[in-house]
Amino acid sequence: MAPRVMELKSTIATVGSHSALQILKGAKDEGFRTIAICVKEHSSLYRHFNVADRIIEISSYKEFENVEDDLMEEAAILVPHASLIAYVGTDVVERIKVPYYGNRRILAWESDRNKQREWLRRAGVNIPKVYENPDEIDSLCIVKFHGAKGGQGYFLAKNKEDFYDKIGDAREYFIQEYVVGTPVYIHYFYSVMRGELELMGFDRRYESNVDGITRIPAIHQEGLSVTYTIVGNLPLVLRESLLPEVFKIGQRVVETSREICSPGIYGPFCLETVVTPDLKFYVFEISARIVAGTNVFMNGSPYTYLKHGKPMSTGRRIAVEIREAIEQDRLKEILG
Ligand code: ADP
Repeated sequence: MAPRVMELKSTIATVGSHSALQILKGAKDEGFRTIAICVKEHSSLYRHFNVADRIIEISSYKEFENVEDDLMEEAAILVPHASLIAYVGTDVVERIKVPYYGNRRILAWESDRNKQREWLRRAGVNIPKVYENPDEIDSLCIVKFHGAKGGQGYFLAKNKEDFYDKIGDAREYFIQEYVVGTPVYIHYFYSVMRGELELMGFDRRYESNVDGITRIPAIHQEGLSVTYTIVGNLPLVLRESLLPEVFKIGQRVVETSREICSPGIYGPFCLETVVTPDLKFYVFEISARIVAGTNVFMNGSPYTYLKHGKPMSTGRRIAVEIREAIEQDRLKEILG
């Protein structure tokens, strides 16, 4: 019989933020020891929910590299999420020696909007038009900034005059056609161990002030600027007839990733889409790892219930994958 993880004393570690509660709880459910690396203000949260067997406190994210030896001694596997990348930084993440779950080389494709666009274009999925020059704006567009956290500061512009009125001093921006439809964030998981793409769930975002602005009469909306600061996420199920297309586009994104960045994307990832009235999915962004929207399914989603028949969050699914890799002596295939 394959050895159980408990006997192997493997450890899963992550930074205490974003989706760490889910990742650590999922790891514990699969029999792993868990570590949360937290800035001081965050540690009480992870203590309260009792998801970490050990909490390593750091005074700032700059200190992250100092805990590396400690994590190596614990034989920890680091599970990344957006806060690790945003706070610790891509450069540090790219060079750390701690075993890392996922393909680190995909980070370069994910963090560069032009490369992302190339990836999606090659995958043959619908993508919003991009305006290289503000003078070319001929439809409603959304203006995004590099490294913006959770949509903060993004704005809409209907033409070039509107754009120049709102852009201020910013020099680095990205202008994308605003696709009018319903936002759908698709959570996938590609399992290397099982050679299969799984659908984990869907969410939509709850953003301030855009989700509040429609609660007031139009007459009072005039003159208010719309912002997209993420506050939370809401669960969603999709029309069943749309699910085959969801699998198709996910599959194409995975296949293309193998061509652009071998061995490609694996583990959790998310396609951020808008669905238009003619039921087309427009993909405006890829997140190449677990997204915070999966937190709405800590106890599993309708789709993971169908597939696994027991509570299966994305965090737990990661732990299952790592456990199977250890049991089959294939860990190398999922650490990048
Ligand atoms: P972040 O960069 O933080 O991931 P998003 O790219 O998700 O932020 O964008 C913030 C908000 O803008 C979300 O509500 C998203 O649905 C919406 N949005 C982003 N791009 C488009 C687009 N091209 N068309 C329509 N809505 C968009």
